[in-house]
Amino acid sequence: MQDIFNFSAGPAKLPRQVLEKAQAELLNWNGLGTSVMEVSHRGKPFIACAEKAEADLRSLMQIPENYKVLFLQGGGRGQFFSVPMNLAGRGNLTQHLVTGQWSQIAVAEAEKYMSVEVLAKTKTVDGYLSVPTQEEWQINPKAAYFHYCTNETVDGIEIDWIPEGGDVPVVADMSSNILSKQLDVSKFGIIYAGAQKNIGPSGLTLVIVREDLLAYARKDTPAIFNYQQQVNNDSMYNTPPTFSWYLAGLVFEWLLEQGGVAAIEKINKEKARLLYSAIDNSDFYRNQVAIDNRSKMNVTFHLANSHLDSLFLEQSFAQGLHALKGHRFVGGMRASIYNAMPLEGVKALVDFMQEFERVNG
Ligand code: PLP
Repeated sequence: MQDIFNFSAGPAKLPRQVLEKAQAELLNWNGLGTSVMEVSHRGKPFIACAEKAEADLRSLMQIPENYKVLFLQGGGRGQFFSVPMNLAGRGNLTQHLVTGQWSQIAVAEAEKYMSVEVLAKTKTVDGYLSVPTQEEWQINPKAAYFHYCTNETVDGIEIDWIPEGGDVPVVADMSSNILSKQLDVSKFGIIYAGAQKNIGPSGLTLVIVREDLLAYARKDTPAIFNYQQQVNNDSMYNTPPTFSWYLAGLVFEWLLEQGGVAAIEKINKEKARLLYSAIDNSDFYRNQVAIDNRSKMNVTFHLANSHLDSLFLEQSFAQGLHALKGHRFVGGMRASIYNAMPLEGVKALVDFMQEFERVNG
């Protein structure tokens, strides 16, 4: 069978080895003669599996001791309201950076609970989308927290530097680039991510929260979204998505086997370099994001002649290069090249793009 490379932005991009392992133990997990989905989340075998997933993640991201790791539900959008609800006791003002679709939606949700100030938005400089640097805006020391999105999945915009919050906790939506590169977790108050890009299947949401921020929840915060309550219950206040949690654990094991985050970061850089060079070295394709803000996970590009879009999608699909259509808000193409996309997939895409240009350019 032809190799299939799936460039979909989600939900879920899992390494083949992980899926094969899950398949092999689907009906007989841990020697129990049953599926992991069917065993009690309160029984010893699953608790050991959950604890190992957390320990592996802590080791991969070098998460300091004074941070709690929660495995929740509700997705990235669930955190858009959980963060303001859990930090409301710190004050009524939150400051946001808006760099694309997702950080904009986060503002709309936070506004239900807080007074939101948008500090800056992505601007266009010389025809390219660019994120204003911290010299162009200032975090108010009175803010309850500062929020931004490290990688805008739809727009293909990534912020490589970490804003300096001083005493104001920096909260980051890392749904689409968590675990893609090395990171100093201690610079953040809260990191959250819907699991379905670099962690595992949808249904699981990761929250990494500094302990001192657990004391500020509004009284009316629903129990399953209350960080302290979930900490007290080891993320099992309600029934957790056990299969997604187990699969996330397999992904963490896989990442460790690859050499950890530093090793995958190297491959991710090479994948992005290959693809952006192919785009930049041609007048047939173009990318609209300033070089410093280009995403290494979601590479957006347009064909100079948009009439060729459907032919490009049809022929790429026929060659096993799936799901390259850009998001409807942005148009054009988007190649999502998360951790699970091998270098060969990007090479195959670049070969296809060059051949398509030769024939249609
Ligand atoms: N934030 C980012 C950066 C995303 O890419 C997404 C979804 O793709 C979300 C938030 C929303 O996540 P969910 O659909 O899990 O609520």
